[in-house]
Amino acid sequence: MDDYIIRNYKPEKLFHYFEEISAIPHGSRNESGIADYLCRFAKDRGLEWYRDQVNNVLIKIPATPGYDREPAVLLQGHTDMVCEKNMDTEHDFTTQPLDLYIEDGWLHARGTTLGADDGIAVAVMLALLDKEAAEHPALECLFTVEEEIGLTGAKKFDYTKITSKRMINMDSEGEGQAVVGCAGGCRSDITLPLAFVPAAGQAMSLKVSGLMGGHSGVDISTGRSNANKIMGRLLLALRRDIDYNLISINGGLMENAIPRECEAVITALDFDTIKDMAVRIAASIASELCREDAGFILSCNRRETPKLMMNCASTRKVAAMIGSFNNGVLRMSDDVPGLVEYSRNLGVIRTNADSIKFSLSTRSAIESQIDASLDYLDAFTELCGASVEHYNRYPGWKYEKVSPMRDKYIAVCRRVLAREPKVLAIHAGLECGIIKAALPDMDIVSIGPDMVNIHTPDEKLNLESLERFWQIIVGMLRK
Ligand SMILES: [Zn+2]
Repeated sequence: MDDYIIRNYKPEKLFHYFEEISAIPHGSRNESGIADYLCRFAKDRGLEWYRDQVNNVLIKIPATPGYDREPAVLLQGHTDMVCEKNMDTEHDFTTQPLDLYIEDGWLHARGTTLGADDGIAVAVMLALLDKEAAEHPALECLFTVEEEIGLTGAKKFDYTKITSKRMINMDSEGEGQAVVGCAGGCRSDITLPLAFVPAAGQAMSLKVSGLMGGHSGVDISTGRSNANKIMGRLLLALRRDIDYNLISINGGLMENAIPRECEAVITALDFDTIKDMAVRIAASIASELCREDAGFILSCNRRETPKLMMNCASTRKVAAMIGSFNNGVLRMSDDVPGLVEYSRNLGVIRTNADSIKFSLSTRSAIESQIDASLDYLDAFTELCGASVEHYNRYPGWKYEKVSPMRDKYIAVCRRVLAREPKVLAIHAGLECGIIKAALPDMDIVSIGPDMVNIHTPDEKLNLESLERFWQIIVGMLRK
């Protein structure tokens, strides 16, 4: 490839490698092409390399002269990218290269995600392995797969191959800030069997909508309301004065998103009475919501009465379960002001032919809290006569009070950026949690350059920021 689009940024190789990998399709589960490229790269340069069955790749390079006694550093990022495109963009992510262009100093891909998350990590590691930095200790460069679909590549890697005790993960965004802690989590599905009887009365739909929603981790402390929980509250309030039977209830799309909508279909004797009551209850709920949820509406509409409805016992139980489910922020961190330590999100409710399923996610930076959450969910479902399945558990990474890597990052940032960097922990999952669980002595920071709108076709990378990011990495590797 001679026709590089990115010119006049330093070091040239860093930017050229980013362009080269952009030409290789690398969506999640399709990382074998980029793994081939990495292994060939290592072979051509006589570097020690290892590729596992799922296409995680590890490449090692010895210390430069004078750095033999310095502690080795593990550099890490993921090779897979999220494949999102605009509706009117024709692009096959499995065969076509990304169509890169630059606008006002920002790199984009036409109509698609750019894969700067986490292509910048791959490009930085390749430039280092290609001897772009004059001084560094022994480096272990780990390229993981399938980060974007549940951190599964990092979970499968054999960490006995790693000797470093210091690590830089390059899967964060935002110049001048380092992530130094993340949450672990677990998904759970609760299933309650339902009893149905022939339907009677007037059917109607009650629909909660217009809420802001958001990420069930990073947005859980915003005060935004959960549509499923609002519906639970409404159903409990209605039954103070009125008899109704549930026909179905469905809300939310993903267990890791705060649900924005929830619809219950019920039957009762009198539509108008229920509607009046529901509207009154909704008005008092609306007055409690945060400003971002100002779009909240409850709509009530007549429906054709179906053949079956839940019996009284099932109806009462479903309303009680949703209403009493312990949801949202459960504890804030003592070490990091403003950081959520422990939370739960009732993301999805689905009514099926003979049961109802509740899908939720638990997050915590502390393993014992996740254990406790699973115990709580087991006990809650036992009380309800339901069953529960837990899956996709991954560990968190707790903020360490002592971290030489963090200190070094701060010192280098002050020099390169001439300002005070921020260090923060996040209430979301990173591969660092998995690596920290496998290698508990590892001292980790997670950093990245300025990039915005990741996971969307508007993803863009600031090229000057990537230049400075390189200087920060090189600075951190120097004595
Ligand atoms: Zn990423």
